[in-house]
Amino acid sequence: MDRRQFLYLSGGLITIAACEKSTKKVTPKLNFPIHIDSNRTTGHLVKSAIQLPVTAKVTTETLVVGGGISGLAAACSLQSNDFIVCELNSQLGGTSSAISIDNVLYSQGAHYEHTYLHNYGQEGLQLLERLDIIQFNTHTNLWDFVDQQHLVAPHQEESCYVHGEMKSSVLLNSELRKNFFDLIHSFNGKLLLPSTLIPSDLYYLDHTTFYEYLNKYLPVDSTFINAIDYQMMDDYGGTTKQISALAGIHYYMCRPYYTNKNISLFSPTEGNYYFIDKMKNHIPSGNIQCNHLVFGLKKENKKWHVDIVDIKNMLRKKVIANTLIYSGQKHALQYTNPTSFEQFNDISYTPWVIINVVLNDTIELPNSKWQNDFISKDTTFLGFTDSKIQSKEHPRVLTAYYCFPDMHHYSIQNLETSYDGIVQQTLQKISTYYKKDITIAVKEVYIKLLGHAMPIPKPGYLTKSRNLLMDGMAFAGADTGRLPLLFDALDSGIQASRMVSNL
Ligand SMILES: Cc1cc2nc3c(=O)[nH]c(=O)nc-3n(C[C@H](O)[C@H](O)[C@H](O)COP(=O)(O)OP(=O)(O)OC[C@H]3O[C@@H](n4cnc5c(N)ncnc54)[C@H](O)[C@@H]3O)c2cc1C
Repeated sequence: MDRRQFLYLSGGLITIAACEKSTKKVTPKLNFPIHIDSNRTTGHLVKSAIQLPVTAKVTTETLVVGGGISGLAAACSLQSNDFIVCELNSQLGGTSSAISIDNVLYSQGAHYEHTYLHNYGQEGLQLLERLDIIQFNTHTNLWDFVDQQHLVAPHQEESCYVHGEMKSSVLLNSELRKNFFDLIHSFNGKLLLPSTLIPSDLYYLDHTTFYEYLNKYLPVDSTFINAIDYQMMDDYGGTTKQISALAGIHYYMCRPYYTNKNISLFSPTEGNYYFIDKMKNHIPSGNIQCNHLVFGLKKENKKWHVDIVDIKNMLRKKVIANTLIYSGQKHALQYTNPTSFEQFNDISYTPWVIINVVLNDTIELPNSKWQNDFISKDTTFLGFTDSKIQSKEHPRVLTAYYCFPDMHHYSIQNLETSYDGIVQQTLQKISTYYKKDITIAVKEVYIKLLGHAMPIPKPGYLTKSRNLLMDGMAFAGADTGRLPLLFDALDSGIQASRMVSNL
């Protein structure tokens, strides 16, 4: 996550308004503290720090830019230990990050995985097995999670609030639902993860939107499309009119939880930060540098000369590396390395806002489920999860998710200063859901703004040919033409490490 990394060049002077997480504690009209994960203050500091002389020069074989899933997967897969990972935030994780509340970690982004199929990409599976996260189950022929305590019991998985009524599922049982699954059934077993395994004879599905595809073959109605739109927003940040048919069908066919009873849901309280932590423990701690923003990438005399700001100590450093793995969001390349940006300039991102509502224990909430889907006129609010289902740890935290249409990217920045509206609105929605005012039991609230959070798999995105190794720099990340999913990001990191190791 790199909300607002604006690196701009003017008259040879590079100015940066970016990017470290700094938590601002404020008490607005609402009667509890609200903490905002903001990068504004640090951004301004970095702007002036950039004028500082270079204070240190470090050489390394490989520099990994970004400490999200893909960057850490790359680091875990490199053959040599001669590498450095630079992460601009004070914590690793990117869109799979977590926040510590009363010494317990709670997800602030990606928060679940499903059992992996036996024929998913072998390198990704092997890395997860090596990290002691999964193990093969010869009875079911599936990859199970080792830490079974993080599995969500099927009867507690989800409930849905659809325009004021509780429903059993977002996609209601109907003739249309049956026809929908009959229509896409022929793709079962062909659409695996990572998405690079998609067979080329299905690429034609990437030339049309999911909406056009559904409309062509089914008598779809608005209720049905709204339900599918909800699911697409939830996983891909775009509606059926925005995403490709290939991405849409892949969603339903890559983890056949609609047909396979052995597929379970894995969701620790810290969400997918669980994977980050496992990878972090696998990497020598001296190789990871948080609070380090990479802002300049130049190839000179066959080496990469990289400008870095150590945000905490306000020091400017140079790293000279033979190879580079760039796993930060690609939109920032337009400022740091415009040549390589060209092949990513088609990518649109959606911003997300995560709100962790910390409750005291004075309130009983009925019908608690892990995930509480919420479909209403406000399509930006997708619902919330309840930590009580994940663990008995205290405090109890309800985590709400908002996904904004991509054109609202800049307006979410206003939330940094005008946040009480969205907090009030969130509490109101959750209270409506429970038919009970939860405001009285709120201890504090944490807001996390994720700017360029998710690449939308629009038509053409998944099958566009991109050169992922340029001049000793390999590109990793979900936004390299892959689906915005952990397994795809993980695989992209593994492949990037292979590319640079083979040079
Ligand atoms: C709200 C949300 C919920 C999600 N839920 C799920 C889920 O439940 N399951 C699932 O499979 N997937 C989910 N995803 C998708 C999943 O989070 C991503 O696919 C995956 O984590 C992306 O990892 P990444 O490494 O590609 O990118 P990122 O997570 O974006 O990591 C990039 C990292 O690079 C750093 N960085 C960027 N530029 C620089 C720079 N110049 N210098 C230093 N560091 C830099 C950033 O700070 C960031 O930490 C979700 C995504 C979001 C936004």
